[in-house]
Amino acid sequence: MNALEQTILLEPATLAEALQLQADEATRGLPLAGGTDLMVQWESGVRPPPPRALNIKSLPELRELQLDNSTLVIGAGVTHATLRRAPLVCEHAPSLAHAAAEIGGAQIQALGTIGGSIGNASPAGDLAPSLLVADAEVELASVRGARRVPVASFLLGYRKLDLAPDELIVRFHIPVLPPGAREGWRKLGPRAAQAISKVMGSYRGRIENGRIAQFAVALGSVAPTAIRLRGVEQWLIGRAIDSDTLAGAEQRAADEVHPIADIRSTAEYRRWVSGRLVRSFLEQLATS
Ligand SMILES: Cc1cc2nc3c(=O)[nH]c(=O)nc-3n(C[C@H](O)[C@H](O)[C@H](O)COP(=O)(O)OP(=O)(O)OC[C@H]3O[C@@H](n4cnc5c(N)ncnc54)[C@H](O)[C@@H]3O)c2cc1C
Repeated sequence: MNALEQTILLEPATLAEALQLQADEATRGLPLAGGTDLMVQWESGVRPPPPRALNIKSLPELRELQLDNSTLVIGAGVTHATLRRAPLVCEHAPSLAHAAAEIGGAQIQALGTIGGSIGNASPAGDLAPSLLVADAEVELASVRGARRVPVASFLLGYRKLDLAPDELIVRFHIPVLPPGAREGWRKLGPRAAQAISKVMGSYRGRIENGRIAQFAVALGSVAPTAIRLRGVEQWLIGRAIDSDTLAGAEQRAADEVHPIADIRSTAEYRRWVSGRLVRSFLEQLATS
């Protein structure tokens, strides 16, 4: 028997049942959604299989996808395949749909979930930048109650989340793209599919009377978590998008990130690409 075969799979039928199991250390299991991160970690020995795994994939409460006034509500169990195609997501959070469409390949998109992407707490998770530029919130639940936290403060560090052991990620609340605003997403990796990003990011911005009225930009794989580039954002407000603005923003973005070198890229390349990405986002915004 291998180590994985010794894991007990808990199969709650409802969210309430799942939270009840998680409330007690003696019955708690490691949440298992699509398993596209966990199964790889267990099989490769990066992380040992846990004594108990909590199968949350089929919980109906985690599958919702709806528009609630000007907020898109997306359950933690919604897959990348659904995110990339759902008309509500394509219309109201297009960079999230675009990011989901570029995750792995069709098999990974069919299984991987938005809750698993954020729950994995990797700086290379492709969905986080789109949630950050939209000022999205994550809703967590336990038998003690529910709470909502901005995704920006939920991501505490490399593999670290503001998530208690008895809590589950239940859903995301994403403010919709405001009228007149535009979003974009771009990923740089060694190839178009099945590749973890070297650097990726999203922006949400709006031009009014020829000047930048709103600009949010977030990058991943350039710090221990995906980050908003607040310094660049503030500097850009009120500026026209001309060659000085593009050059200034590119330089400031490169200065604001804190990339590391790893097997996927050097810190210098990531810093340079961060500047170029922000420049390309502004060029896209200017031509919209
Ligand atoms: C071949 C391959 C290619 C990939 N390509 C990409 C890529 O291009 N871009 C990218 O971003 N990722 C990629 N991934 C990583 C992975 O597919 C995603 O991160 C995926 O979104 C994880 O979701 P999941 O549902 O499979 O998570 P799981 O593996 O089930 O879980 C991941 C983590 O999140 C926790 N978790 C899951 N759901 C919850 C919840 N509701 N509440 C609390 N904790 C929870 C789990 O306990 C675990 O720690 C790839 C993986 C593979 C194997």
